[in-house]
Amino acid sequence: MKAKDVKVAFFDTKPYDKKSFENVNKNYHLSLTFFDNKLQADTALMAEGFDVVCAFVNDEITKETIKVLVSHGVKLLAMRCAGYNNVDLKFAAECGLAIVRVPAYSPHAVAEYTLGLLLTLNRSIHRAFCRVRENNFSINGLCGFDLFGKTIGIIGTGKIGATFAELFKGFGVKILAYDLYPNKKLEEDLDLRYTTLDEIYEKSDIISLHCPLTKDNLHMINAQSIAKMRDGVIILNTSRGKLIDSKALIKALKTKKIGGAGLDVYEEESEYFFEDRSLFAIDDDVLARLLTFPNVLITSHQAFLTNEALANIAETTLNNISEYFLHNNLVNGVCASCAK
Ligand code: NAD
Repeated sequence: MKAKDVKVAFFDTKPYDKKSFENVNKNYHLSLTFFDNKLQADTALMAEGFDVVCAFVNDEITKETIKVLVSHGVKLLAMRCAGYNNVDLKFAAECGLAIVRVPAYSPHAVAEYTLGLLLTLNRSIHRAFCRVRENNFSINGLCGFDLFGKTIGIIGTGKIGATFAELFKGFGVKILAYDLYPNKKLEEDLDLRYTTLDEIYEKSDIISLHCPLTKDNLHMINAQSIAKMRDGVIILNTSRGKLIDSKALIKALKTKKIGGAGLDVYEEESEYFFEDRSLFAIDDDVLARLLTFPNVLITSHQAFLTNEALANIAETTLNNISEYFLHNNLVNGVCASCAK
């Protein structure tokens, strides 16, 4: 097979995807087609005649979607992201649909953004920006706290969590960490100590989530875990929305148990995130309620969005596809047993 004969259908694409993939494809010469639509059961038919579908975080790669893809000749699903919680891996394996992903593209992009959320939220920079633009120069109600001397709890110390911890060198904070597989080197290199989730909940002033979403940690931040936390704790989530029970979060924000939330992800984000919905009312009452809190900072899953990350995503994805079709080599494959 020649590179130009490998037909790739991109779903849920935005102008920045097209730009970065077309640029990197100058070195790969694959045949790329970009669709705006999300990949889901009722759009999967658009992949007819393509060898590969390239999907993103909010595409719905369910059994139904996979059935349509495979029956129309798609052989490879190339995820242009790290996570694959939106893919039915077991069924894909049963159907012989191979899957590749981008395990790392820029942990710095997400870690730096998480720090940005924290600094913005704690010091009310988002609110100050709006005030000053309205000629309101009052600083009343914008008081934050020094990070110096505070305790940060990091849940998940893989590439992003570890990079996030490293960014705190110089801040004078204590770091508590939890991971299923602790990284001893981090403990040696940084002022960081691994402990239990309960100790993180009990002692942290700030808790940041950097673990993947699995069936074991769905809604790990819930009424019970929140009850164990310090009053006024700040929660940061740039990982996956379903790690947090949003209704429990709202309750805790109302009682001021939680002092603030910086969220780049939301459990029902797929209806809203990445789209301009400014002409419509929000039907999702939970999201609408979250948006009313001055101490909740929500962004639309953009932590990854840097030039470097986009270029790396495109490079790794096109390389994964080329390796598979031109060299019969599954690089960065995701197997059925990866499903937890
Ligand atoms: P990674 O695989 O390098 O690290 C994940 C870490 O979490 C690993 O050390 C793993 O052992 C640990 N882990 C797994 N299950 C856990 C659990 N139940 N409790 C505690 N720790 C657990 O992944 P990464 O590159 O650091 O990415 C982390 C997550 O960030 C991804 O899974 C993805 O959901 C999210 N992400 C978000 C964006 C964004 O734009 N907002 C971009 C990239 C990744």
